[in-house]
Amino acid sequence: MLARFRWIAFWALAVWIGGCQAAAATPPPADRLVVVASIAPLADLVRQVGGDQVAVTQMVPLGSNPHTFEPTPAQMRAVSQAQLLVLNGAGLEPWAEDVIQAAENPDLQVLVLAEGLPLLDRNPHLWLNPRYMMQFTDKVAAALADLDPEHAADYRQRAAAYRAELERLDADIRAALAQVPSRKVVTLHAAWDYFAQEYGLEVVAVIEPTPGREPSPAEVAALVELIRREQVPVIIVESQPTPPVARVLADETGARVVYLEPLGGPPPLDTYLGLMRANVQTLVDALRGGP
Ligand SMILES: [Zn+2]
Repeated sequence: MLARFRWIAFWALAVWIGGCQAAAATPPPADRLVVVASIAPLADLVRQVGGDQVAVTQMVPLGSNPHTFEPTPAQMRAVSQAQLLVLNGAGLEPWAEDVIQAAENPDLQVLVLAEGLPLLDRNPHLWLNPRYMMQFTDKVAAALADLDPEHAADYRQRAAAYRAELERLDADIRAALAQVPSRKVVTLHAAWDYFAQEYGLEVVAVIEPTPGREPSPAEVAALVELIRREQVPVIIVESQPTPPVARVLADETGARVVYLEPLGGPPPLDTYLGLMRANVQTLVDALRGGP
């Protein structure tokens, strides 16, 4: 009786921690694939494709910068016990190599999603383009099926369903951006380049070409000049409160500062689809406002 109570208490705790909605159908941990994913959108992708057959740990917590993140000992342990580590690649996770070495986990498979995909110069933000996310979906499904052939059909089926959702998202973004009078933006950070390339947004300038390096006064003056000349209506930032340099540029030019979130947040930003739909709505509203 006590053992049974413990088991139930354990599950209640696991469900509470995991925020899982389908507790009854969730297989015990021993029967699930243990997967670690680097950032929130990739952890969400693994959950979408893996369903109840995977237990997913996310490395970079929300609010942390993936470019400068350092893993905790608990996260190192998670990697040492995982069967699969899912990384974006293209330089997003400079910490990954050390983590893999330190994990001393000979069974660990590493899936680098950016591998083999066309990259923009040293830019890792592939996931912000839903068409790249579709390719990521297939890669995750193949990796899960390799590790757990018994459920290969489930993974493929969920991947197909998720791809269909990404297709709808892609179509909706195209339709929404077709209605804006200007597609010119300045971004604080090069996060939206893949998105811009896909959907015909014109990134006129990036304020911090190197993450965290603030522009000099001369560079700020040149940006003011450029935003005025090109009549750029929107400056995209990725952090709140608004960084001072973006505020200065907005005050000097009349451009509007828009906060877009590249990683995630509280619902509805806790899924990639919710995140992207919210971002696109914010962006389209701002671009519609005109210069
Ligand atoms: Zn970034």
